[in-house]
Amino acid sequence: MDIEALRRDTPGTANRIHLNNAGAGLLSRRTLEAMTAHLELEAAIGGYEAADQERDRIDATYAHIAQLVDGRPDEVALFDNSTHAWTAAFSSLTFKPGDRILTGRAEYGSNVLAYLQTAQRTGAEVVVVPNDASGQLDTAALAQLIDDRTKLVGVSHVPTGGGLVNPAAEIGRITRAAGVPFLLDATQSVGQFPVSVAELGCDMLTATGRKFLRGPRGTGFLWVRPEALEYLEPHSIEIATATWDGKRGFTWQGGARRFATWETSYANVLGLSAAVQQALEIGMDGIGRRAIELGAYLRDRLDAVPGVTTYDLGRQRCAIVTAKVDAMPTAEVAAALAEHRINVTTTDPTHAQFDTEDRGVHPLVRLSPHYYNTEGELDRAVEVFAKLAAPR
Ligand SMILES: *Cc1c(COP(=O)(O)O)cnc(C)c1O
Repeated sequence: MDIEALRRDTPGTANRIHLNNAGAGLLSRRTLEAMTAHLELEAAIGGYEAADQERDRIDATYAHIAQLVDGRPDEVALFDNSTHAWTAAFSSLTFKPGDRILTGRAEYGSNVLAYLQTAQRTGAEVVVVPNDASGQLDTAALAQLIDDRTKLVGVSHVPTGGGLVNPAAEIGRITRAAGVPFLLDATQSVGQFPVSVAELGCDMLTATGRKFLRGPRGTGFLWVRPEALEYLEPHSIEIATATWDGKRGFTWQGGARRFATWETSYANVLGLSAAVQQALEIGMDGIGRRAIELGAYLRDRLDAVPGVTTYDLGRQRCAIVTAKVDAMPTAEVAAALAEHRINVTTTDPTHAQFDTEDRGVHPLVRLSPHYYNTEGELDRAVEVFAKLAAPR
C-alpha cells in the first residue's frame, strides 16, 4: 500500500490528523470528483437527463457493494444512512405479545430504542444477551437463550463506542441452526475490514457510506438474503417498489430494492460507488490488516503512558480506540486534541446505556484511525495525551 500516494489523494490529510473515521472518513479526491461532476451535469442538462446519461455507472453501484460484502447486486438496496437501512429491515418484521428480540450489550442506541418502541407497541420482549469475560457477546449464552419465542437476533458487529468486534460468524451459525432471522448492524465494520455475508451467516446487514468506507455523508445500504424476502414485508411501498395490478392487488418488485424509495441523491450514489470501488481496488484484506494494526499500535502506546487508560473490550479488536486521561475530564482532553488539529470524538453515556450500566466509564475519547493514517500521526496524538497526563 503506497500510503503517501493515498494521502496525496486525500485532501483532508494536509490539514488535520484525522482520527475520526468511525465518525466520518476523509473523502478521496476521486470520490469528491465523482460527486461534483454529477452535480455539474445535473445543472447543465437536467436531473432526470443526467441520471439517464449516467445510468450504467449508477447501476454498477449495486454490483460494487455486492462485491464488497460478498453478496449479489439484487440483494442490495441504497439508503441515505444506515439508520434508515436498518429501520427498513427491522420494520419489515412483525411481532406479537410474547415474541422475543435478542440483542447484545454493545447494541447501538438507536437500534435499542427501536426494540423498545416495538416492545411497547406489540408486547414483544427485549432480551439482552450477556457478555463473556472478554466483553464480547457470550455466544454460549445466546445459544441457551434462543428458543421458539425468538423472532429476531439483532447485533452490532462493531459498537460505536469501543474497539470490540463481536463474534458475528459464530452468532450466524447459532441463528441459522435455530432458523431465527439475524440482523447485523455492520455500520462500523464495512470498509474497516473484510465483511462477507456468506461467512457471517446474517440474513440482513446494514452499513453507512461515510464512516470507514470513506463515502459521502447521507449514504447507506441494506443487504438482504433472498430467502428473507419471504418473511419480510417492507414498511414503505411506492410505485417504484411495487406494481399495482389495476384492481385491488399489487406485486413487490424483485430483490432487495423493494425496501428503498425511488428518489435519491445521485451525486451521493456516485460518490458512494467511487468510494466502494476504491476500497475494492486497494483491497479490503490490506485495508483491514493496516487499520487493525494501527488501532493496536495506538492502543499499546496509550496504555504505556502513565495516567492514561484504554477501555476497549473483546477478544478481537479493531481500529476504534477508546481512552481516558485518568485525572482529566474527557471533554478537556478532546478540546486539547482539537487545538492540535487532531480530530476525535467522545462517547456519550446515554447512547450506550447497557455499557454505561456495566462499566460506567463513558464519556471516553474515541480515536479511530484508518489505513491512510501514519504511525507518526498516532505518535502525535499519544504525545498530547502524555502531556495532559503528566503531573504538574
Ligand atoms: C453510526 C452508527 C449507526 C448509524 O449510522 P447512520 O449512518 O448515522 O444512520 C448505526 N450503528 C452503528 C454501530 C453506528 O456506529
